[in-house]
Amino acid sequence: MEDLFAVYGASGCGRGVMPLARQQLVQAGIAPERLVFVDDGLGPERVNGQRLLTYAQFLAEPAGMRHAVLAIANGTVREKLAARLAQDGVQSWSVQAANVVRMDDVELGEGAALSPFVTLTSNIRVGRHFHANLYSYVEHDCVIGDFVTFAPGVKCNGNIVVEDHAYIGAGAVIKQGVPGKPLVIGRGAVVGMGAVVTKSVPAGTTVVGNPARPLRAD
Ligand code: UDP
Repeated sequence: MEDLFAVYGASGCGRGVMPLARQQLVQAGIAPERLVFVDDGLGPERVNGQRLLTYAQFLAEPAGMRHAVLAIANGTVREKLAARLAQDGVQSWSVQAANVVRMDDVELGEGAALSPFVTLTSNIRVGRHFHANLYSYVEHDCVIGDFVTFAPGVKCNGNIVVEDHAYIGAGAVIKQGVPGKPLVIGRGAVVGMGAVVTKSVPAGTTVVGNPARPLRAD
């Protein structure tokens, strides 16, 4: 029995990941018919020519192994769904564009989704279910946690730690840290689009602007 592959999430993020997944499978000699969208909230039977299944249908479809990449930008949702996949014996699947650049000594956790023109340079550790959207980069000696999301065009320079569940908005620039004293983006922090981050951001804090400062609630 042949394996079955899924892009979980058929909204904006999923529709961007699907062509990469399809290309990756075709290159591995696997028929694109073995690739489906899975979504818990969308109706039509096909999205951009690809079958759309509910999660229950995905589990019921005859298959050898089942594989899924979580193509949903919200890291908390990805964590919830990753637990569901693990419980049901579905393998976490990593998908990346053909033109992603990965240099030396890059450890990439399971379930990553790397969009076109992403670059990961050397000596980098990345946790589970990382999303790096179009044109983002991660420079040398960075440590990226689990369920971290980079919107398009994030510039994550050298010696930076990005803790679990941080979300970095489009076009944000993060100043490099120094060896042994990294700049830290804390757990669950949000960096607004276009922010210029010059110092560490505490866990759970949203920062915006240039230089980036905590968002005030007024
Ligand atoms: N979704 C899902 N299961 C969940 C939560 C979300 O299938 O538990 C789907 C939801 O139905 C939607 C997609 O994930 O189609 C999320 O799309 P959204 O436009 O919110 O954001 P995106 O991650 O695509 O930017």
